[in-house]
Amino acid sequence: MMLIKLDINKNYILKTGPVLDGSQGCIINGAGNIFIEAGRIAAVTPGGDTGFPFTDPRREIVHLDLEGLTVLPPLVDCHVHLALDGKDFAAARKRWEQPEPIARQVQSELADTLERGILAVRDGGDRAGIGFATREQVTTGNLAGPVIRSPGFALRQPGTYGAFLGRGVEMDKLPETLDQLAQSGVNLVKVIVSGVVSFKEYGRVGPLLYTAAELNAIVQGARARRLPVMAHASSDAAVRLALEAGVDTVEHGYFLSREALQQMAAKGSAWIPTVIPVAARLNCRSENGGPDRQERLVLERTVARQLAMISEAISLGVTLGVGTDAGATGVEHGSGYLEELALYRRAGLAPAEIIRCATLNGAHILGLDWGVIKPGRPAALIAVTGNPLADIAALETVKYAILP
Ligand SMILES: [Zn+2]
Repeated sequence: MMLIKLDINKNYILKTGPVLDGSQGCIINGAGNIFIEAGRIAAVTPGGDTGFPFTDPRREIVHLDLEGLTVLPPLVDCHVHLALDGKDFAAARKRWEQPEPIARQVQSELADTLERGILAVRDGGDRAGIGFATREQVTTGNLAGPVIRSPGFALRQPGTYGAFLGRGVEMDKLPETLDQLAQSGVNLVKVIVSGVVSFKEYGRVGPLLYTAAELNAIVQGARARRLPVMAHASSDAAVRLALEAGVDTVEHGYFLSREALQQMAAKGSAWIPTVIPVAARLNCRSENGGPDRQERLVLERTVARQLAMISEAISLGVTLGVGTDAGATGVEHGSGYLEELALYRRAGLAPAEIIRCATLNGAHILGLDWGVIKPGRPAALIAVTGNPLADIAALETVKYAILP
């Protein structure tokens, strides 16, 4: 994969194969051209048509040959944990106190992410602020990586689930904590509304960790500071509570009901179903510490239920974002994304629908003007072999990633 960082002082002409995006699907069938000026798309034309009147013709023109490749907007992962590598939780945790090993881990995660054409990620937070520090490193150009949105650390109820994700914050300290987060420049607020899903007992999920009044105070406090809210909510009750409080995105949402999805569609909140952290455990053999027969059945039923609700969400018009929870056990940065997309396919979603979720919806959730290939939009693009509209697995072979 070749990463091309566009020079704002140059014009570009891309000779491409088919062009597709998250809103219209196929824009150009066959060969095309994309003209880029000052980091933005100036025109998209069919193959034979190679002339274009750039506004400033004195600029150097760079020609990129992407002939035969399908060009589409970048993939977006709406839920990752850059502080964790998905291989060994305890080992990654130990690295948090060791600057060089954690720097190496994060660098390799960022490379794996870019390699797959994932050019923007939203971090789910960590107590040590590693995700946030990584965002700073990438923004200042010290590290090559995708665009990163970070909440810093997650807000959680003291003494309950999620010690590695964030700090326990007493409700009377909420205003000053939110002020600190806002002043440090976080992009969003992450809140842990419930415990986690059980792998041992079907349908069991950790308890609600906030009352409605407490969660309302958090969401309103975030709003007052112009920060969107990402809510870890693992049960139907937690999803309902989060939606009532007006969160922007619901993470996980295992066992949510049709009514919750209807409420989500009506409120315009997005859902990030994160199936792969559950499904990945099925890849681990029992002799290597993987699930026994009983646990396997629970995992399979939980995955099947989540896939059925994904399909339901699409039919109800819910905005679905793709999130992997990369860093969770068994979910690696980059490769976990394709596994999540394969699960969406298993849920019965058409490739065009999956591409919309992975590109346009993800960009919308992260507040990026990506996902649509038309004049005036930032020229954030990837080029792949094959046509993902025919087979979503074509997204496996990303040849170029272009960032404005
Ligand atoms: Zn997470």
